[in-house]
Amino acid sequence: MLGSDFVRKVFCGIGIFIFIFIGINATAVGDGLDFLDIAESADQNQKVVYLTFDDGPSIYTRAIMEILNEHSVPGIFFILGESIDNIPESYDILNELHGAGHFLALHTMTHNRRSLYRLERSPQNFVDEMFELQRLIAEITGHHTNLCRAPYGVGGNFKAAHWKAVTSAGLYCVDWHIDSRDWEKSTAQQVYDEVSRGLKKKQDSNELVILFHENARTITALPQIIEMLQNEGYTFRPYAENHRFEGLR
Ligand SMILES: [Zn+2]
Repeated sequence: MLGSDFVRKVFCGIGIFIFIFIGINATAVGDGLDFLDIAESADQNQKVVYLTFDDGPSIYTRAIMEILNEHSVPGIFFILGESIDNIPESYDILNELHGAGHFLALHTMTHNRRSLYRLERSPQNFVDEMFELQRLIAEITGHHTNLCRAPYGVGGNFKAAHWKAVTSAGLYCVDWHIDSRDWEKSTAQQVYDEVSRGLKKKQDSNELVILFHENARTITALPQIIEMLQNEGYTFRPYAENHRFEGLR
């Protein structure tokens, strides 16, 4: 009697378990699909912007990071190997950026135009420098990336041999849709105006990459630029490895 009672209880238990399991699963699948539908339809209309900062780390990096953090906006920092050597606390700065959720990407070790673009072995130099920096950033922060930006941009600098070398190395080099020209402007207002002009030209784009450098003008202009982008309906996104930007190689 004990035996059959035990068997009945076990079967009853299994039955209840299966019932609950199917119930949970049906709910989960249903919710999941609904959620995906919403996410996909939202994505199609969503205007997305990526803020990128070149040539750091620098004495300005922490101020830029603070502004981004205050506004809950992620940044992509294209790191220069030379800058890591030149700036005190550069290892700490890189770890703080990475820890705060900003994306560390590659911008060569030297930024040297001649070595990277003008010599016969430049395509290999370019890849070698990116790999050296890739290893260095991984050693310092544990972050590994294939995302890179060519110093001075790929336009006018990359020939077929560069593209071949970069592609076979598995690197993904991107320029930008809007250049803030903060490297040549003398005031924060001019940097703001340049981004504003760029936005008007690109108003049909749903995805924008904006180029900044680390300097005092950009720091002053950045909060208003973030506000302008928010008012124009842009969402700030963190970079996801293997994402491909619209219109950028
Ligand atoms: Zn640069």
